[in-house]
Amino acid sequence: MESKVDWEEAISRCVRCGRCRSVCPTFSLLHREWAVARGRIALLEALEGGRLEPTGRLEDHLSTCLLCMACEEVCTNKAPVVDLVEEGRAILVEKRGKPLYKRILAKVLEDKALARRLVALGLLGQPLWGREVPQYRGLALRTPILKGWDMLPPLVKPFSREGTQEWGGGERGTVALFLGCLLDFSYPSMAQATVDVLVELGYRVVVPHGQSCCGYPHEAMGDREGAERLKELNARFLEESGASMVVTACATCTAYLKKAYRLSIPVKDVVEVMLEAGVEAFHYGLGEKATYHEPCHLGRGQEVKGVWPFLKEILGPHLVEMRDFDRCCGFGGSLALGYPQVSLGVGEVKARAVGDTGASVVLTACPACVLQINRCLARAGVGARAFHLVEALEVRGR
Ligand code: SF4
Ligand code: SF4
Repeated sequence: MESKVDWEEAISRCVRCGRCRSVCPTFSLLHREWAVARGRIALLEALEGGRLEPTGRLEDHLSTCLLCMACEEVCTNKAPVVDLVEEGRAILVEKRGKPLYKRILAKVLEDKALARRLVALGLLGQPLWGREVPQYRGLALRTPILKGWDMLPPLVKPFSREGTQEWGGGERGTVALFLGCLLDFSYPSMAQATVDVLVELGYRVVVPHGQSCCGYPHEAMGDREGAERLKELNARFLEESGASMVVTACATCTAYLKKAYRLSIPVKDVVEVMLEAGVEAFHYGLGEKATYHEPCHLGRGQEVKGVWPFLKEILGPHLVEMRDFDRCCGFGGSLALGYPQVSLGVGEVKARAVGDTGASVVLTACPACVLQINRCLARAGVGARAFHLVEALEVRGR
């Protein structure tokens, strides 16, 4: 396997200062050295040096990292923690193979036709169990993968259709909307809201047919081959779309498209498009007291940091600050399935922070954050709901 990082150089960057302990959500939950960047890097060094076997326990220690980049932001010596953890996971996949839940997840995310068939089946069965999955009986007990999930992701008719979809006249040019998985399969109304915002800002929007998962879940699970296949497939459809820009409304997809794809056209998060349009282009449609959660892959992953002042100007007194607004919500991709108690533990901290603001609306910019925050708010009994910015802000003159 070809290494993505200069292993020795990357590991040597960690000078064991321990500064990462002050910001790591998994360390503050688990209070173990293996649950923080410093400890995880030490484990990887031992693995690489042959002093540690690629055991299931090591896999647990690496798999519980949220890849949230909070440690990298404060790291004294700029240790590339996320690249190292991803590299370590890829080594473990090579040596041990993927656990069953990761194999199933990777297969379903890669094969859109299979995902569609499963959703169709799920929609047929949904009236039998609704969205609620009781934790101590029935389905959850018989299905370990569901343990810890209060709710399955909302199961709805996918947004994408056969053939390329398009909207708008496009005096400002054509953008290709990259949907990713959650917008397509769980939040089609968020996908439609993204299209509406782009069209009302003057773009022609196309959704190129054939696009699939961005590949980041595979990369994060250590499945490099799966990630490469998806990158190649998506790049072909996006390049052939005739668009002058690729836009996504999933901060994780955008961050990965920017970092790992080599496209000949620029990639932007829809939030960047909104920031460029300026505060005068929007008004706040919900009218309720709101707070803001910054997705890791927006603030740290893409370094898009101007959302707070943008929202402050639009919402005025309706916007209240949340402590640790940029702390990870705890979703962490496959971590939410494989280690639900870690995911929910981190999510509970976020839910409490939302509750303390007294806001009834949480604005954010990633469908995974919306999913995670809403399930954690429901578990914690906090009467608030999370929305993507494209759903809560309306373009003036609609
Ligand atoms: S902050 Fe950086 S250098 Fe310090 S212990 Fe953590 S990873 Fe190592
Ligand atoms: S990426 Fe996040 S969860 Fe992982 S070690 Fe760094 S701060 Fe902790």
